[in-house]
Amino acid sequence: MDITITRTSAPRPRPDEDHIPFGTFFSDHMFLMDYTAGKGWHDPRIVPYGPLPLEPSCMTLHYAQAVFEGLKAYRTAEGRVQLFRPTENIARMARSCEKLCIPEVPADVYLDALKTLVELDADWVPSAPDTSLYIRPFVFATDAHLGVHASHTYLFCIITCPVGSYYPEGLDPVHIAIESREVRAVRGGTGFTKCGGNYAASLHASEIAEKQGFSQVLWLDGVEQKYIEEVGSMNVMFKLAGKIVTPSLASGSVLPGITRKTALQLLTEWGYEVQERNISVDELIAAAQDGSLEEAWGTGTAAVISPVGQIFYQGRTYTVNDFQIGPVTHRLYETITGIQWGRLPDSHGWTVPVC
Ligand SMILES: *Cc1c(COP(=O)(O)O)cnc(C)c1O
Repeated sequence: MDITITRTSAPRPRPDEDHIPFGTFFSDHMFLMDYTAGKGWHDPRIVPYGPLPLEPSCMTLHYAQAVFEGLKAYRTAEGRVQLFRPTENIARMARSCEKLCIPEVPADVYLDALKTLVELDADWVPSAPDTSLYIRPFVFATDAHLGVHASHTYLFCIITCPVGSYYPEGLDPVHIAIESREVRAVRGGTGFTKCGGNYAASLHASEIAEKQGFSQVLWLDGVEQKYIEEVGSMNVMFKLAGKIVTPSLASGSVLPGITRKTALQLLTEWGYEVQERNISVDELIAAAQDGSLEEAWGTGTAAVISPVGQIFYQGRTYTVNDFQIGPVTHRLYETITGIQWGRLPDSHGWTVPVC
């Protein structure tokens, strides 16, 4: 499918590269493609970034039949622009779409759309250290109809925005609270998909935790509220007595992160024993008490690796690695960001050049 391009005649205001607020300044163009039942996906096009016409009865506004993705374009020291494992995002969105009864976006058109849009707006990919262009693909139901069923029409859209360094003051450990009342996802639900509804469900507990001074919530499973699932909107990993332990994806309520997958592959190559399994809060707290909890960190595209310095549970605070970044946490951060920004060789073929 050929992508039609309509260039903007009114370039948008740009942020100062050294102080880019997250998700606020959008680049000049966006990608759009329509789906109509019986016709399939059609009219792939890049147009100037701007508002979308929307019926108040648009099904997404009422029943949240929508999914999204998040990835980044990185500028290397030589000035090239590259993506990191975009086919993983494309495959994950296909799994999200299937669960939400949304027709899958063809993978070849999707990758072409990502590359063409980023290349057209390449001068929006910042070059200051640790900055990147965040890419947000999303697809949502557009039927103007209030019946509860899968929509017959959809819009696939990709917007991009420059983002600043996640850690302007260096890699800071975070203080998190174990949430034992509210849950993010349940077995058999949408936890493994990247859908807005999961985020809506997480806001209440996150706001309360934030008011109490915690930066993230450590979510427990939605069935027994006994096993660790994720930290905020990141996957979570622990170094327990020399072994790397992370919640298994088998329950379907943990999001299969691409940073998670990348980190697990590197850790295995580095010779660590990696266990994907259930980790109960009791096991974690016992390990924090007897000193076998050596490191803890979150993984996700936005922060890459986020060290956990303190864990709050039932009125007590447990400090991890003296609130310092541990050696494994640090090595993962340096290696993954090194490959993403082209400072380290990419022996896995994870990066995809754009221009
Ligand atoms: C996106 C996301 C992650 C991290 O996935 P990455 O592919 O590593 O960015 C983890 N948990 C949740 C709930 C997410 O939405």
